[in-house]
Amino acid sequence: MSRIVILGAGESGAGAAVLAKKEGFDVFVSDMSAIKDKYKNLLDAHDISWEEGQHTEEKILNADEIIKSPGIPNEAPMIKKIIAKGIHIISEIEFAGRYTNSKMVCITGSNGKTTTTSLIYHIFKEAGYDVGLAGNIGKSLALQVAEDPHKYYIIELSSFQLDNMYNFRANIAILLNITPDHLDRYDNKFENYADAKMRIIQNQTAEDSFIYWNDDPTIKKELEKFQIKSVACPFSEIKEKGSIGYIEDGEYKLEYPIPFNMEQEELSLTGKHNIYNSLAAGLATNIVGVKKDVIRKSLGNFQGVEHRLEKVCKVRGVMYINDSKATNVDACWYALESMKTPTILILGGKDKGNDYNQIKNLVKEKCVGLVYLGADNKKLHDNFDSLGIPVKDTHNMKDCVAACYEMAKTGDTVLLSPCCASFDLFKNMEDRGEQFKNLVRNL
Ligand code: ADP
Repeated sequence: MSRIVILGAGESGAGAAVLAKKEGFDVFVSDMSAIKDKYKNLLDAHDISWEEGQHTEEKILNADEIIKSPGIPNEAPMIKKIIAKGIHIISEIEFAGRYTNSKMVCITGSNGKTTTTSLIYHIFKEAGYDVGLAGNIGKSLALQVAEDPHKYYIIELSSFQLDNMYNFRANIAILLNITPDHLDRYDNKFENYADAKMRIIQNQTAEDSFIYWNDDPTIKKELEKFQIKSVACPFSEIKEKGSIGYIEDGEYKLEYPIPFNMEQEELSLTGKHNIYNSLAAGLATNIVGVKKDVIRKSLGNFQGVEHRLEKVCKVRGVMYINDSKATNVDACWYALESMKTPTILILGGKDKGNDYNQIKNLVKEKCVGLVYLGADNKKLHDNFDSLGIPVKDTHNMKDCVAACYEMAKTGDTVLLSPCCASFDLFKNMEDRGEQFKNLVRNL
């Protein structure tokens, strides 16, 4: 009997274990941290052995194959030992892909993955398709394949998942953009990170489709290195050579496979970045064969995703927007770009090596106040104080929201789009967004 060892017992690891057990492997799960009760219960219910708070070498290095959680870096001591021993490491998605023939719609990119994945899932649901949501969101693909299989899967893929994918085939692959992120996991080489993203098209055939943003300079450069075997489906903000999805004269248009158009104003998601996300989602669902009226209706009634340009409420004529998920400078650029009223921007947190020059012009153009929110705000002072915009320095959400309330005038917008990770002051970006929303609602 082949032995499969799973490192990391979160959503993906626990799901992979259940599928591996079902497929008759000798399965062992090991997690360096504490395993959540719900996953312990799942493993116990399937009679799968596990350990937490440690990695027992003898029980791991005897594996025929390892399934690694995307959160564990290659530099982790146990992974180094596994690599040195030559044991094959795969991701949960790669593993699950071996046991299903369902159609896979896969979405990657530096920003916009969750929004686009959720939007595509929404359109499939509205069309009445048998569909599952997987990858970074929803239930693990492996668990669904094992216990609740669907005809289609909409899968959000991070570069970390793609790193350990080899034979998996995306029937529809979507690459939204490639901008610097997570470089600490890629030897600080942007090219390595970009190459990881391009793995989304490996194994595609002439029957498959590759949807990508035509104006991304990094994707353009990467495409010169690869021979695309699938049908290329580029989209762009405005009509240009080669693009088959774009905006023209206030109309959202798709040329392929079935010509489709609707008023841009009817799209429920706003902002330039969401034009891209809506074009990618429209192309994917048009290719699958969703009826035009369903695509039109669904692009118009999608409610958006929490913590992504989420309107919280208006207080004394001031709109408060929660974009806590903007953990890099590029995401904040798009949020600012979509602002229509004078904006008070909340910035700061755990900086991943940000270059703030990218947003300085937009900050000058759109912002009437800046509120810094981080354990250490020095880099923000160094970058933005000289712009001459009123600035407030805060170190917790309560003071931050109070500072915004004081600064804002009727007609302004307060935007939490911090460019940074949240771990210096919050549990995670959801905690940051929740605290913001609760305090705003209590103003
Ligand atoms: P991801 O899952 O890739 O992190 P999300 O959909 O959660 O992407 O959005 C993350 C942040 O990026 C949000 O703050 C959002 O405003 C911004 N964003 C969304 N779509 C795009 C896009 N296509 N290009 C750039 N930024 C985007």
